[in-house]
Amino acid sequence: MPLLEALHGEAMSKEALEKYDFNAISIATLASHSSLQIFRGAKQEGFRTVAIVVENRLWFYKQFKHLIDYFIVLRSWRELCRRDVVEELKKLSAVIVPHGSYVEYVGLECAESIEVPIFGLRKLFRVEADQWAKMKLLQEAGIPTPRLYKVGEEIDRLVIVKLPGAKGGRGYFLAKNSKEVLEGLRKRVEEGLLNSLEEAMIQEYLFGVPAYYHYFYSPVLDRVEMLGADIRYETNIDGLKRLPPKFSIELDLEPTFVVVGNIPLVLRESLLPKVLEYGVRFVEATKRMLPPGAIGPFCLESIIGEDMEIRVFEFSGRIVAGTNIYVNGSPYSYLYWDEPMSTGRRIARELKMAIEKGVLEKVVT
Ligand code: AMP
Repeated sequence: MPLLEALHGEAMSKEALEKYDFNAISIATLASHSSLQIFRGAKQEGFRTVAIVVENRLWFYKQFKHLIDYFIVLRSWRELCRRDVVEELKKLSAVIVPHGSYVEYVGLECAESIEVPIFGLRKLFRVEADQWAKMKLLQEAGIPTPRLYKVGEEIDRLVIVKLPGAKGGRGYFLAKNSKEVLEGLRKRVEEGLLNSLEEAMIQEYLFGVPAYYHYFYSPVLDRVEMLGADIRYETNIDGLKRLPPKFSIELDLEPTFVVVGNIPLVLRESLLPKVLEYGVRFVEATKRMLPPGAIGPFCLESIIGEDMEIRVFEFSGRIVAGTNIYVNGSPYSYLYWDEPMSTGRRIARELKMAIEKGVLEKVVT
């Protein structure tokens, strides 16, 4: 994978950072996804908070105004990169915390070029948007992954076909052979869910239990922490379990994978060394491939097979919605911090530590 060039937005953000008031940094995020957790964590650590919100959601986020100091109200998310909005954020000495909706809502272009410091590695956005680059990074890290197929390649087992973009599993389907893959893809092109067949990613369907691990890499402490784990609740693959199999066969029901919520998960302790090892390997691979490497929260998404083998089919390079379960800390975060430490709070704590030690440039790009 080619190393990505330094981004223009990154250089401009560094310039902006020099003018910031380090005693009055604020934490800004789009009012969506895990923002309430992020705002609360920021408040717990003594930061000011900025909610970037679209008009029709303002009433909802106003219910939480004790967590939010400033509202920047937009007509559409895409206005984030408008000059006056960027200037306002800079005036507030704002650091943007990206979450799962960030790139999806504002678009890759704006997400990575915005001239406001971002907590995390902005180079990772482009890799995350490209399903093939993403899997390559996992493979480079030496993390076991499912087998991948190209469109048109002979398919010898059950596969899951994925569409690009973080749309929560929308439009995914299962197929048993190349004919079914092609039929499904053509249908999705007609429905406008896909531009070209090649955009789809075909993965071997892994059997086992899904497990999603929440990590945090701290450049300040130089350590990877396991902050929690969850299982996603997806419709209707999870709903189908409630139906006697004869009905799903008779009705010819197709499973779908749209996330509706998250369920907490505590793992067998004997699995933890492997889980942590993969987190560490992921960070090391990003350091090699995308220097300076991952910063802050990320998630590896896996299936654990009956042989206890963990295979990772996807990652997220930022806070995931599954961390919302642990707004008051998780069984794992207590082991590191001995206080209620959500991922949102952990982000703020890292920023605070970086400011105190005078190494803010280690955690923002
Ligand atoms: P993703 O968009 O990659 O997070 O996938 C959405 C959902 O599809 C996951 O939460 C899993 O339930 C399922 N899934 C994705 N990839 C695989 C795979 N290779 N094998 C089995 N299930 C998968």
